[in-house]
Amino acid sequence: MMAAKLHGHIYDVVVIGGGAAGVGVSVALKDAGIDNFVVVERFTIGASFALWPAETRFITPSFATNSIGMLDLNAIAIGSSAAHVLGVEHPTGEEYETYLRALAQYFELPIHQHTEVHKIAEQGDSFHVHTTAGIVHTKHVIWATGEFQFPRVRGFVGSDLCRHTATIESYRGLPGEDFIIVGGYESGVDAAYHLARRGKQVRLFDRGCPWEDESSDPSVALSTYSRERMRDPQFVANVELFAHTPIAEVERVGAVYNATTHDGKQFQTSVPPLLAVGFGRGPPKIAHLFARRDDGYPLLSEHDESTIVPGIFLCGPAVRHDNQVFCFIYKYRQRFAVVAKAIATSLGLPAQGLEVYRNWGMYLDDLSCCGQECVC
Ligand SMILES: Cc1cc2nc3c(=O)[nH]c(=O)nc-3n(C[C@H](O)[C@H](O)[C@H](O)COP(=O)(O)OP(=O)(O)OC[C@H]3O[C@@H](n4cnc5c(N)ncnc54)[C@H](O)[C@@H]3O)c2cc1C
Repeated sequence: MMAAKLHGHIYDVVVIGGGAAGVGVSVALKDAGIDNFVVVERFTIGASFALWPAETRFITPSFATNSIGMLDLNAIAIGSSAAHVLGVEHPTGEEYETYLRALAQYFELPIHQHTEVHKIAEQGDSFHVHTTAGIVHTKHVIWATGEFQFPRVRGFVGSDLCRHTATIESYRGLPGEDFIIVGGYESGVDAAYHLARRGKQVRLFDRGCPWEDESSDPSVALSTYSRERMRDPQFVANVELFAHTPIAEVERVGAVYNATTHDGKQFQTSVPPLLAVGFGRGPPKIAHLFARRDDGYPLLSEHDESTIVPGIFLCGPAVRHDNQVFCFIYKYRQRFAVVAKAIATSLGLPAQGLEVYRNWGMYLDDLSCCGQECVC
């Protein structure tokens, strides 16, 4: 990993965020022949992953990348494999952070850590990126700040009395014996599993029934990994599921938390209910630089560029095209080469080094792999 200088220079690209998307798209920039760029990261590479609860593991399995074009589901660079680097199939957040740091080092990515971006201003046909270390000048910006920093903590009366699972360091030391979890998708099942394995009683509420959704798309239905965990004897014994039961209100009365459902049923617990209701929709800091889709996500060109401010690109789980949701790494990595190619083209570079991406089934200039509604 190379320390990069920020001032007295006009960059071709500034990548904001050194997570899976920022590191992955940076490797694609290099493959496109772009060297005049810098990654600006407010903490350190892979910081969001380091903040996951200690016991939480990837639900998407890692299996070593191989030479016939099968990329490890959690890999973010061709020829790399989280499975190979880490020797595990379902990495913890901390392990995945190690993989990202190893990649940044191997590809000698120019990274400026401990530097937060707080504003982007258009200046003619370039941008001034305002950071805690001063203003950086650039022709293009890739926004890759992820969603982990925006846990969804509102949604019903008293949700501020609850605790989002993104703020939990470890389930091991969590005090309390009886837990209410609001949200029964991946994070909710993950929390319920770890608590149940420690003999805690859990009531898991969801407004729908993700445990029985028959879609083959893990962006919609529960992963196989979580389904397997739900069959664990301690999960079966200790977790009670409440489908189609949205929580309408949580209030605290003395040492007790009362959770009231939409149909007026009440449930008590002695510990703050846990929120496993996901994250916000897209990056609020640059909301003014993107038009919005009806569902609130940023509206993007077919190259993931802002439709109202050319030169600003979005990478990561907030990317949406039509009904395609790119929330998993193996999905949004498909867009890295598309973005790198668009920027290379705007800089007048041929980007031949990206052709290899096709051999790995990655998109280069197409919007979708098959042109059909995506369930893959
Ligand atoms: C508990 C949990 C389990 C998950 N399991 C899986 C899984 O099994 N498989 C899968 O594919 N995905 C999984 N995901 C989703 C996956 O972690 C995210 O899609 C991924 O982290 C997104 O990568 P990113 O680079 O966009 O964001 P991040 O990894 O969050 O990286 C963004 C980076 O930007 C930095 N940053 C933020 N704001 C600024 C700023 N203003 N200036 C400078 N830097 C900034 C942050 O510090 C951070 O390092 C999981 C997520 C969670 C929370």
